[in-house]
Amino acid sequence: MEENTNVTTASAADAAVAPKEGKKFVKRIPRRKVCAFCQGHVDTVDYKDVNTLKKYITEGGKILPRRMTGVCAKHQRVLATAIKRARLVDLIPFKGE
Ligand SMILES: [Zn+2]
Repeated sequence: MEENTNVTTASAADAAVAPKEGKKFVKRIPRRKVCAFCQGHVDTVDYKDVNTLKKYITEGGKILPRRMTGVCAKHQRVLATAIKRARLVDLIPFKGE
């Protein structure tokens, strides 16, 4: 009997969280990321600044999407250019090791 009550409380709590479509939904923390470049009042990204650029590329050397880094559209464009430049001068590999 006690078990039964537990199940009802659990499903009631689930229903409050789960979306209406009934799809499996991974709960994510809704945290608004703020563009690091806007915060630092940086307008240009130096392609020689490898340490900064490395934060915005994957291990495979790909540029991370904006939705993952929280960078604003304006700075994502600047950043992409900087990363591409850094690749050309061999500071960042085109492909992972
Ligand atoms: Zn920005």
